[in-house]
Amino acid sequence: MQPPAWIELLPLAGPFLPGHVSLIGAGPGDPLLISIKGAVRLSQADVVLHDRLANDRLLALCRPESERIHVGKEGGLHTRPQKEINELMIRHARAGRRVARLKGGDPLIFGRGGEECECLIDAAVPFEVIPGITAATAAAASVGISLTHRARSRSLTLISGYHSRRNAESEPESAEPTGRGTVVIYMGVKEMARNVRQLCDQGWPSDTPAAVVANATLPEQRTVVGTLADIAARAAEAGIAPPAVILVGDVVRIHEQPRTAGPQS
Ligand code: SAH
Repeated sequence: MQPPAWIELLPLAGPFLPGHVSLIGAGPGDPLLISIKGAVRLSQADVVLHDRLANDRLLALCRPESERIHVGKEGGLHTRPQKEINELMIRHARAGRRVARLKGGDPLIFGRGGEECECLIDAAVPFEVIPGITAATAAAASVGISLTHRARSRSLTLISGYHSRRNAESEPESAEPTGRGTVVIYMGVKEMARNVRQLCDQGWPSDTPAAVVANATLPEQRTVVGTLADIAARAAEAGIAPPAVILVGDVVRIHEQPRTAGPQS
């Protein structure tokens, strides 16, 4: 079989130098949604620190002799404290290893990648960041929602929802109360009623269209569509569980209609 033509591009990734860290966005779930550069770095790494939301199938790209360390986090309960993850990256890099830090979605969107960069800077460890497809764009693409739209939405706001394990005093982030743009809420499913109410309190009309997409791009993907008034009840009724994002705004009106089986009327 002929090798695919894109193989020609692989040398453009350059070498992965010993003692360097590569923060790699694994994408939303479908393993084919990692970037080619991210895949190359995984295949060059000596040590791979990977998260729960990064698809384990990507580990098949690693060299057999590489060390893989699962540092995943489960719904806010960290299997390893962030400090320990930071220390692991630094320790392995200082030992002259090539360290891949594989993170779900994009490393710098709600992934504490910013903190990881800061600690690498402080430790004078050289690093790069390889962006990934974030859950908002993956979910939107999966259900045919255009996050921005010339006539319906000229802005996109990504916010982190309130979730119960967080400090009880912490308030959910707020979105611009224009009711005009598109808002995507990450980590907002466990406390969905509260997160949706927060938008209404900020002036968003309760009939604003809303959709919840769980496990976007994976075979288990599920979508529930409604309005701010009923989306939380609909999602609960459907048994929607994390990981999921809530898409809010006029753009949700146009989404791919579920295909029905059997003859169409
Ligand atoms: N860095 C990641 C986000 C990490 S925060 C990114 O850029 O996507 C974890 C949250 O991301 C989850 O609670 C959920 O809101 C969202 N998420 C991650 N993967 C998802 C998926 N496949 N489908 C829907 N939401 C997802």
